[in-house]
Amino acid sequence: MQELVQTYDAIVIGCGLAGLFASLRLQQAGFKVLLLDRRDSPGGLCGTTIIDGYEFVIACNDFGRGMEEDIEELNIPVTFKSKKTRIHYNNEDYFSPFERKTILKFISHPIAFSKFIWKLKNNKPKQVEDYYLGAVVDKLAQDRTLNDLLKLPSYMMGLPPQDFLLEAVEYDSFYGYGYLDPRTPDGGPQVLVDTLVNTFINRGGTLALNTECRDIQKAAQGHKVITNRGKVYSRYVISSQPRLDKYYPDYKPGMKLSKFCIAVANDLPFPEDIHTMIYYPPGISDWYEKLDRGELASEFGFHIFKSDLPEKSDHYTMNIYFYLPRDLDRPTPEVIEEVENYIFGKLETLVPGLNQSLKYKKFISPEEFSQIHQGLSSRVTPVVMTHDFQKPDNYDPETDIYYIGNSVYPPGDHAGASLLSAKTVANLIKIDWQKNNQVVQQKQLTTIN
Ligand SMILES: Cc1cc2nc3c(=O)[nH]c(=O)nc-3n(C[C@H](O)[C@H](O)[C@H](O)COP(=O)(O)OP(=O)(O)OC[C@H]3O[C@@H](n4cnc5c(N)ncnc54)[C@H](O)[C@@H]3O)c2cc1C
Repeated sequence: MQELVQTYDAIVIGCGLAGLFASLRLQQAGFKVLLLDRRDSPGGLCGTTIIDGYEFVIACNDFGRGMEEDIEELNIPVTFKSKKTRIHYNNEDYFSPFERKTILKFISHPIAFSKFIWKLKNNKPKQVEDYYLGAVVDKLAQDRTLNDLLKLPSYMMGLPPQDFLLEAVEYDSFYGYGYLDPRTPDGGPQVLVDTLVNTFINRGGTLALNTECRDIQKAAQGHKVITNRGKVYSRYVISSQPRLDKYYPDYKPGMKLSKFCIAVANDLPFPEDIHTMIYYPPGISDWYEKLDRGELASEFGFHIFKSDLPEKSDHYTMNIYFYLPRDLDRPTPEVIEEVENYIFGKLETLVPGLNQSLKYKKFISPEEFSQIHQGLSSRVTPVVMTHDFQKPDNYDPETDIYYIGNSVYPPGDHAGASLLSAKTVANLIKIDWQKNNQVVQQKQLTTIN
């Protein structure tokens, strides 16, 4: 492997979405950027992988409108489709973005619904549980359906309602993530990543894969980054490595997703305007809390999406995501069989004929996920946030290192938040750069005078 020996304006550690967007933003501001990743392929959790000859989405696949806006701002040639999410609850279908029926369901209980909206805007908690969606909804909405539908955001973020902060319902509009109006990149997540990478390289950036950051030390003009391929120097270092040391003591990690990767015959119909279908059984607080306690629930939610990849001659692939009981990273064959029977039975109500059309099926446990993807984790939410703790800052003044990704500001555990962390850091660096250049210019002027 060639040794890296160079000096850059900025070194970005981690070529996931956060690292890619941070690099492109700094590049746009005129910085010479080195982007490195310990894995042998770029994209982190975004992209596809080949399993037994079939191409599957790795993890993230549908995004918020905010990503489309970032892509436009950076002038990157990726286009998006606008697709719906279908929620199958108690033999009825609801949709996001909300359509008439879903809105009617909410306003069919006007008092409870108005009280909920009022709480969202003016929450003045008297006790700890008042900060959390589960407890607030239980107090306000006695109707079973309304109660479960109001708790849907917690399912979407992979947290039981009692752990989901009420204020988190507002993040989507407050931070402009736009997940209520979802987008999928044309060609799928791998095309998105390939286009980001090619744009970065064509604009003069350097990408180093198989390059692990082992240490970051302060040096004369900034930092020395020590990797398995040698030392590299830069004024700024931006890291995707999680800042978990800055979390509350004994923090509670989020749960890890498990999945079935399946391939079905091309003639199995899947609605063109829908990306994700959620099987959402009644009583989320009960079944999710059970899973969170480490027990298998007799009913639990799961979701399925079509991979949206370039067409293949005889099949298309889909991922089915669900949570096994907490910490069950390597389930026994008996547990897998039980879960499989449950999911593939229920799937017929979402995608009729699916079982008949199956060409391939593979279960991926959280442990296998990490093995296949060189150490990536299937935990959507790195840490369960509490009402009295905020995500760490993007900048550490002690080490002079900038941080991006879902372990730092802003709130939210999805690609939208990762992209906003990248934008925040790029802006902080641009301001610092301008400030330092002004100081240098002033010093030069003083010397000349
Ligand atoms: C199963 C699953 C499904 C998801 N689905 C969605 C979805 O549909 N929509 C959505 O918006 N979000 C989704 N998310 C969340 C989304 O994937 C993440 O928010 C986003 O991908 C995070 O990007 P990132 O760049 O911060 O981190 P990552 O993608 O994890 O990238 C970090 C990179 O840093 C590299 N790295 C770490 N340490 C080092 C080191 N020391 N040296 C070199 N390289 C290093 C890693 O190898 C990795 O490639 C999902 C998450 C999971 C787990």
